[in-house]
Amino acid sequence: MKAITVEPRKPETARLDEIPEPDVHGGSVLVQAIAVGVCGTDVEIVEGKYGWAPRGRTRLVLGHESLGRVIDPGQSSSLKEGDLVAGIVRRPDPVPCSNCAVGEWDMCRNGQYTERGIKEIDGFMSEQWRIEPEYAVKIDPSLGVLGVLLEPATVVAKAWEQVRMVGQRAFWEPRTVLVTGAGPIGLLAALIGQQHRLEVHVLDRVDTGPKPEIVRALGATYHTGAVSAIGFQPDVIIECTGVGQVISDSIQAVAPGGVVCLTGVGSGGRTVSLPTADVASNVVLQNNVVVGSVNANKRHWYKASQLLAGTDPAWLSRLVTRRERPEAFKSALARQPDDIKVVIQFAEV
Ligand SMILES: [Zn+2]
Repeated sequence: MKAITVEPRKPETARLDEIPEPDVHGGSVLVQAIAVGVCGTDVEIVEGKYGWAPRGRTRLVLGHESLGRVIDPGQSSSLKEGDLVAGIVRRPDPVPCSNCAVGEWDMCRNGQYTERGIKEIDGFMSEQWRIEPEYAVKIDPSLGVLGVLLEPATVVAKAWEQVRMVGQRAFWEPRTVLVTGAGPIGLLAALIGQQHRLEVHVLDRVDTGPKPEIVRALGATYHTGAVSAIGFQPDVIIECTGVGQVISDSIQAVAPGGVVCLTGVGSGGRTVSLPTADVASNVVLQNNVVVGSVNANKRHWYKASQLLAGTDPAWLSRLVTRRERPEAFKSALARQPDDIKVVIQFAEV
């Protein structure tokens, strides 16, 4: 069968490959791939900056934002042939650490977790894939190809849960949220903010293309320019850019008692010269919290599937801005100015 594979840590090694049918050891549920979303992590892996092949092999099947149709439900008691499913990405470490032992693999403490399409387990960019029943998440059939947004939605569901839990250390009635970055993660974070009945603001650097209108369609306010110029102190900031200046501005802009949740992973960029003690004293005197959030566990996958099923599909569909065939994976991985979520489509829904 066809699959998009890559030799991790070696740039320019991605190719449309011919590989054997998925081995039953990969899970008793057999799935036909429908679509796989592309994200920054995939681009990093293809550029040779990240990723690990399965042990004893040199190549990894790419892709972790999955959507497929069940061909054979195997040992699953809840799935049946034809169901739409997505696969949970992370697996607990083998030790396991205390968090993995209780199913919180997103909070793994020893770094020995594995991840489909990223770290030591094949991903979902193949015509068929297998999965263990407990890691297959059923998707509302009305979502169709939009089910491919489930994985990014899980990341956001976890981030919001973190914000809420941190906020509840004191009396907590947040009114405003600023989301920095209007990519798929930022827009889904704005969607959750709106469902929490907060006043939602989204900031991005572009003022053209589909993003401003998608934000406005949500009933939220769109900003460009600096975080410091938005004109109010947000109770919550969900940071989705990973850009140093935006992060540092967010920490300074948040309201007293506010929470800044960092979800973007960046590196380098211009050096922001802020005396650490001044930043810290501001955080201390205002009881602010800066919290990092990555990945998601089963609870977040459940919550995200409920979220998507309850969202206007017409709005969600605007997030998927481009669909490419597997043969055109290079084009899918190359960023275009108006891209929000690009998906590689293996089959029709
Ligand atoms: Zn662990």
